[in-house]
Amino acid sequence: MPVEPASSGELRVGVDLGGTKIEAVVLRTGDEEPVVLARMRVATDREAGYEHIVAATAKLIADVTREAGLAELPPIGVGMPGSVTFRSADGSRSVNALVKNSNTACLNGRPFREDLRRAVGQDAIVFANDANCFALAEAEYGAARGARVVFGVILGTGVGGGVVFRDAIGARAWDGLQGIAGEWGHVVLDPSAPLPCYCGRRGCVERYLCGPAIEAAYAARAGTNLPLSDIAAARAHDPDARVVLANVVSNFGRAIGAVINVLDPDVVVLGGGVSNLALFYAEGPAAVARWTFTDELRTPIVKNALGDSAGVIGAAMLRQERSKPSLVSAAKLR
Ligand SMILES: [Zn+2]
Repeated sequence: MPVEPASSGELRVGVDLGGTKIEAVVLRTGDEEPVVLARMRVATDREAGYEHIVAATAKLIADVTREAGLAELPPIGVGMPGSVTFRSADGSRSVNALVKNSNTACLNGRPFREDLRRAVGQDAIVFANDANCFALAEAEYGAARGARVVFGVILGTGVGGGVVFRDAIGARAWDGLQGIAGEWGHVVLDPSAPLPCYCGRRGCVERYLCGPAIEAAYAARAGTNLPLSDIAAARAHDPDARVVLANVVSNFGRAIGAVINVLDPDVVVLGGGVSNLALFYAEGPAAVARWTFTDELRTPIVKNALGDSAGVIGAAMLRQERSKPSLVSAAKLR
């Protein structure tokens, strides 16, 4: 059914490219709540390879636009794990941005951004890390609504983070000079820890706070494997669960304390499966306060409000600006 866009709002397509599914929405901005005119999802099917993912994403964008009754493609935002590099595998410099650090391994080293623009037939596509999209959605429509500076945290099978600032136009995700702004998951808590990280270092925050790491810590102590929800439920009567979860709170406090010392955000909003643990909200603030440079920590640590929808909504809210002032000033410095 065709839908008339509101005169106050803009139409955008948001795409969340995950490891198991690709989701797309057509979103109308400018309302109090996110107005989703159409929503579709397909399996990522990463075994089918890189070309398949490019084609499937382009088709999904065309399909969801048609589903919303639009004759033309609106501006498009795409959120996906990882970042980009201009350095090819052989060390040479690439003209196009190449995906790196994606958990969908077949994307790594490939010029996904350019290839998707070509497949869609539109240049107005912006890309961002999925944690940045999460933070942006929560800043515009969720638990961090109206905040000037938001630190969004993803605690799931990995650990990510995103920084959002609000200016006169609205909230914007800050990706940084290298595109790694907010990547607190790879801050090292203990370089001597026997916890190798896929980034090449040891003792990264991710190796303490992601779901699989917490389950592995429990298995190492207790000698049995339990899913995270069972470990949390066993806390009252299981000394191993008690120790493991106390360490989680303590490491969370130290890692978030460091972020607050640098950024001092108005709010920290948590997302991802691990963020469902009540201990982050009950015990987290006191643990964070131990590591922050203030006598009174007022930073709210809150649960996300948008759930799984934050990824696509945040992607749709990404600003379509291609120029980066920070790069200009950095070039002058060199
Ligand atoms: Zn790491």
